[in-house]
Amino acid sequence: MEGDLEQLRDYFRSGKTKDASWRRTQLKGLQKFIVEREDDILHALKLDLGKHPVESYRDEVGTLTKDISVALDNLSNWMSGKKIKLPLGAFPTDAKLVPEPLGLVLIISTWNFPFGLSLEPLIGAIAAGNTAVLQPSQLAPASSALLADAIPAYLDNRAVKIVQGGVDVTQSLLQFKWDKIFFTGGSRVGRIIMAAAVEHLTPITLELGGKCPAIIDSLPESFRRQVMLKRIISAKFGTCSGQACIAVDYILVEKRYATTLVELLKGTIKEMFGENAKENVARIINKHHFDRLKGLLNEPCVKDSIIYGGSMDEDKLFIEPTILVDPPLDASIMKEEIFGPLLPVITLDNIADSIAFVNSRPKALTIYCFTMNDKFVQRLASETSSGALMFNDTIVQYAADTIPFGGVGESGFGRYHGKFSFDTFSHEKPVIKRPYFPDFWFRYPPWSNKKLEL
Ligand code: NAD
Repeated sequence: MEGDLEQLRDYFRSGKTKDASWRRTQLKGLQKFIVEREDDILHALKLDLGKHPVESYRDEVGTLTKDISVALDNLSNWMSGKKIKLPLGAFPTDAKLVPEPLGLVLIISTWNFPFGLSLEPLIGAIAAGNTAVLQPSQLAPASSALLADAIPAYLDNRAVKIVQGGVDVTQSLLQFKWDKIFFTGGSRVGRIIMAAAVEHLTPITLELGGKCPAIIDSLPESFRRQVMLKRIISAKFGTCSGQACIAVDYILVEKRYATTLVELLKGTIKEMFGENAKENVARIINKHHFDRLKGLLNEPCVKDSIIYGGSMDEDKLFIEPTILVDPPLDASIMKEEIFGPLLPVITLDNIADSIAFVNSRPKALTIYCFTMNDKFVQRLASETSSGALMFNDTIVQYAADTIPFGGVGESGFGRYHGKFSFDTFSHEKPVIKRPYFPDFWFRYPPWSNKKLEL
């Protein structure tokens, strides 16, 4: 490995990756990979996660295709930097912020969106002119193998290496010096990454998770009600079966609406997934996560709160979309990120209490809220903190390249997507040019009180 990394460093030092044309060629290579290997990508996602091809297209192929186009369309503009305005006192000065690549970067990805979460940061790393090592997750083996086997035919192998392997491989990669580490995963491993980065003062981005609440302030009239239900149910059960960092983790609603809401949620689940949920809902990634989710449901204090679903097929690693009402707040299901198809509905006396509720917990990657009340919108915006705050929809913030994607507090730090990915893998260097004239004598020693009087 050490020899490989030295080669990647030498290639970076050669300056080749700084050429705009090289960057463009690599981005086009990624684009070609997505187009030519689309069927293989959809097949790998079916094997690893049982995802329906339409879901896979929406969440990975489609999003990546768009993001590569955005990078290609904007590359010249991103690379050109920007003029800095200076105060009159600094006149005459020419100053510009010039983005420069960081060097050799490490991208550690995870398994729930194994193509998107690997290639989306790679787009940024390449566009910014870096060399890169990418470690896809070994927990999605078909996707990881496809990336490792196919990508070398599409990219410059002197600049990009895909390394397959498990925790031991991550741990050995972390021993080396990198110019940036970009990590997607849970906060437990995030802490390990951060500790390793300290050794070499390596800058890091941590894309972590957490519990994203959906606050519902009332039940709107019928059209909005239908849209709200579809957006919540789809964000929970129709997006990798809730195994998504921005999935709705739980719902907060006033007691008086709870019974009706639960009936509506049940109806929407039936409409969306029909009698044959196994064909339409992704499966749980592996036995470990299946048992973890089963454990959350089987906690004695939680069992009585299951009011819909709850059935499981261990052979197929399938868990039926499940709704719970008011599981105890000190149960694991309300303390840990669920990351699966279990949806607790927590009832409150007054929806205004949702602000204190979310503020008493670690900061979420996204807070969702369904409301038409502008005052409540204002209060949530000013009184809560989260990676993003979204009203009346779910998930779509991930696909919008003009919206920075990232967490705050326990949900991580740093941001990417679109130009933000380019910035994440660049150093914005101020380049300042001054003339020799005019030159003011009073700025230099020797000091005298006379200079103070000026
Ligand atoms: P994880 O943190 O357990 O593992 C991620 C990767 O870290 C693994 O593939 C492995 O290579 C490495 N790793 C695991 N244990 C390690 C160790 N002891 N030492 C060194 N490296 C180690 O994450 P996961 O459980 O596979 O993924 C789920 C988590 O990822 C959830 O918390 C989810 O919210 C988060 N996530 C975040 C985003 C985002 O964009 N913010 C996206 C997807 C998932």
